[in-house]
Amino acid sequence: MSLELLIAGAKALAVTLKPEHLEAFRIYGEELAAWNKDFNLTAITDDDGIQIRHFLDSLSCVLGMEDTGERLGGKHIIDVGTGAGFPGIPLKIIRPGMRLTLLEATEKKVGYLRHVVKRLGLEGVAVIHGRAEEVGQMAQHRERYDWAVARAVAEMPILAEYLLPLVRVGGRVLAQKGESAPAEVQRAEWAITQLGGQMRRLAQMDLVGLAETRYLVLLDKVAATPPQYPRRPGMPTKRPLTAKGDQDKG
Ligand code: SAH
Repeated sequence: MSLELLIAGAKALAVTLKPEHLEAFRIYGEELAAWNKDFNLTAITDDDGIQIRHFLDSLSCVLGMEDTGERLGGKHIIDVGTGAGFPGIPLKIIRPGMRLTLLEATEKKVGYLRHVVKRLGLEGVAVIHGRAEEVGQMAQHRERYDWAVARAVAEMPILAEYLLPLVRVGGRVLAQKGESAPAEVQRAEWAITQLGGQMRRLAQMDLVGLAETRYLVLLDKVAATPPQYPRRPGMPTKRPLTAKGDQDKG
């Protein structure tokens, strides 16, 4: 596949792609196209879409994650609902020094993730088949990560309950969002506070070749998450934490 759009877009983000990174993205793109024929991993299958909407959009996370001059190398990151590996795998490709955990609830996607991690020769990557609500209550994962990230998984109040329990106090959360981001953040205010988070920044992202508005929502984890969160599987979606008392209804 051609990687011209990715190269141009990354340059605009001030992300340098070395030959070994490009080789990894080429293999990743080919495997995605090949597996997608049988498994329907993603709705975006054309070369341009994969370069811009998957690879470049994932890479834009580094602008939010390294905004304080802090590097991702050595950090432990969990990508919740990673699907076919976004944004986690592109970040790991350009920042190989980080440790990455990919969490995904759908088994066929987990199969693809295990395959592609091996095919790319990525080290320090764990693939977990499970749900955020369960993993967030496991001692070996709860409040263990420096970063929890997610793209296109759930609305902000729900996502906060998936992500904040996994992050250590002092760590951070990043959610990739579309134009609904400001409204979603407002709706999630109570949930974020309740879960030990604090709004840090809402950063608008402009990607070369993409007309629509993208946002990075960044949260700080400032206090421990109360033990009752995350609630059992399905509950965060069924009764999102939107205002005090809501979660007690029904
Ligand atoms: N992040 C990827 C995939 C988005 S689709 C991307 O941006 O391309 C959302 C994915 O999240 C699906 O693969 C779904 O199986 C997974 N998912 C949804 N709820 C989840 C949960 N509670 N725990 C773990 N994975 C979840």
